[in-house]
Amino acid sequence: MTTRVITNIGELTTNNPAFGDETAMGRLWDAALVVNDEEVLWVGATRDAPEADEKIDADGCAVIPGFVDSHTHLVFAGERSDEFEARMAGTPYNGGGIRRTVAATRAASSDELRRVTTKRCDELRAGGVTTLEIKTGYDLTVAGESRLIDLAGEFSDEVTFLGAHLVPEEFAHDRASYVDLVKGPMLDACSQAKWIDVFCDAGAFDVDESRAILEVGRAAGMGLRVHGNQLGNTGGVALAVSFDAASVDHCNFLSASDVEALASSTTVATMLPGADFSTRAAYSSARRLLDAGVVVALATDCNPGTSYVTSMAFCIAIAVRDMHLSVDEALWAATAGGAAALRRDDVGGLAIGGRADLVILDAPRAAHLAYRPGASLVRQVMRST
Ligand SMILES: [Zn+2]
Repeated sequence: MTTRVITNIGELTTNNPAFGDETAMGRLWDAALVVNDEEVLWVGATRDAPEADEKIDADGCAVIPGFVDSHTHLVFAGERSDEFEARMAGTPYNGGGIRRTVAATRAASSDELRRVTTKRCDELRAGGVTTLEIKTGYDLTVAGESRLIDLAGEFSDEVTFLGAHLVPEEFAHDRASYVDLVKGPMLDACSQAKWIDVFCDAGAFDVDESRAILEVGRAAGMGLRVHGNQLGNTGGVALAVSFDAASVDHCNFLSASDVEALASSTTVATMLPGADFSTRAAYSSARRLLDAGVVVALATDCNPGTSYVTSMAFCIAIAVRDMHLSVDEALWAATAGGAAALRRDDVGGLAIGGRADLVILDAPRAAHLAYRPGASLVRQVMRST
């Protein structure tokens, strides 16, 4: 197997306190790294670097772990830029536009969905994402959700069944039957997915409906995730914590007891600044969560309605500028935080024997991700096979 040594790394972030400055960022300067196709073999100073089959000179640039995007809705057809324009002109977001994407996705061939998903996936990867989660939820029929599970599985092992995204048009007057469908035949057809998610919020599913769906998912052996408290104090955070869900995502509206519950749980709070940006909502209180000791992740929430964002660097810039995270907190949330939200310990950091998923930035420090918003700062992405 070919070995590669990367030398002259101006600033190396490992998220591994065993290395370097012994902080959570595990940072080294004038560093080197040896990897092969599968794992990290060595970390240290450039002057001590061993020989390898190939040599890459980082020219003083920074190296970070690959981003872990723990929340995307990547498999969909069509786009909804008209809704974005309307929102910017003052029309409030209410979640109903999801039905437009459901109609477009149902009508699209698998080849077309594969083509557009490949394009979005390539955008994420070019921006440094090396692990990504993908949700279904834009078909909402048994056969259609099953098709989306299979398509998402072509792009990631982290596939999430989101039949409980919205009650589709044809069940608008019979919600209970749709919930039964999700809990029964739809879940049976989609139970090979690693995760199940519910959109527990105003206009989507209430706490009782969400609880019933999560219970069946848990019984089927699926990991649990929740979209919660994006549009109001709607109980999603408390529900997620009560289930020990891996992650509750959005968290724009938080009571003191929500924050307390998260802080004493293993549920990660995932911030989706692209959604707040694209709906012109107040940004989630990530600062408050971090100060309370909650583990926070950052994700793109790439979807056509409320966050057509494929740049994790953009999310980091917003988290720093408008959510008041330090650059290091935002970088950690986009890497190790995302890994925690997926309950993975093999991604989100660089460790000897761990996956060699990393990004060589075209900048001397990782801080440039927030300091130079909009610039393309990825020089090279490496991902273990
Ligand atoms: Zn989402």
